Amino acid sequence: MTRRLLILGGTAEARGLAERLVGRPGLRVVSSLAGRVADPRLPAGEVREGGFGGPAGLAAWLREHRIDAVVDATHPFARRMTASAVAASAETGVPLLVLRRPGWRRRPDDDWRWAATLEEAAALLPGLAGDGGRVFLTTGRRSLAVFAGLDDLWFLARSVDPPEPPMPRHTHVVLSRGPYTVPGELALMREHRIDVLVTKDSGGEMTTAKLAAARELGLPVLVVRRPPAPDGVPLVDTVEAAVAWVGAHAG
Ligand code: NAP
Repeated sequence: MTRRLLILGGTAEARGLAERLVGRPGLRVVSSLAGRVADPRLPAGEVREGGFGGPAGLAAWLREHRIDAVVDATHPFARRMTASAVAASAETGVPLLVLRRPGWRRRPDDDWRWAATLEEAAALLPGLAGDGGRVFLTTGRRSLAVFAGLDDLWFLARSVDPPEPPMPRHTHVVLSRGPYTVPGELALMREHRIDVLVTKDSGGEMTTAKLAAARELGLPVLVVRRPPAPDGVPLVDTVEAAVAWVGAHAG
């Protein structure tokens, strides 16, 4: 009997998991993407794109496609999708695993300041960057609106697709997609005479070079804390552990 697995994706870990599982005898794997990135990196195997229509929509989708297990491998900051997966799993009884890579670890020579939310980061930024300060903003194109109004600061905003207004008056956009290298990040930060780096605590290897570059340049980093993992749902932080869970629940 074929078992069916849904991977909620959009991360390197989700692609890694699909890569490991696609082609296993007796297992059908569907990866789901939000459909926001114009040219997404596609996982191996079957892919569907677009929102499900909230928790009820996801629950209906799970029933309709007779899904046996779900791995939520979305980004640690994809709060709504994770909440939706938790609710749909509770409603349908389909087992759910959250695969979330670990957050970054501060080194002794790092100058990190923490913000609970993007909004708090925006409130802290003028004090940290100073008048006319130059900020490297790496929190994603949809976060720019939160920083709109900080018109005394200059922003280098990096994103995969172009951001849309509102955004700070002095914003220079650079479009690119990781992974990044330390020499590349150093060159970018030096070229734009960056004073402060702002990042989410996304974790992972793909975008860690900016932290090493900030360390080398002695720059402060404003780190937005990740939302807490959901209560009462099994949580793993490696693809390996997720593969084992799938073996037990949909193998
Ligand atoms: P979000 O705020 O939690 O999600 C908003 C809505 O988008 C969800 O309610 C859902 O719509 C839809 N959605 C999100 N992820 C989906 C998925 N994998 N498959 C189908 N629908 C999905 O999420 P987000 O922060 O916008 O992230 C969107 C996607 O980008 C996720 O796949 C995430 O892994 C990836 N990503 C996010 C970040 C980040 O910093 N947030 C960074 C890198 C990659 P419905 O309610 O209609 O189902």
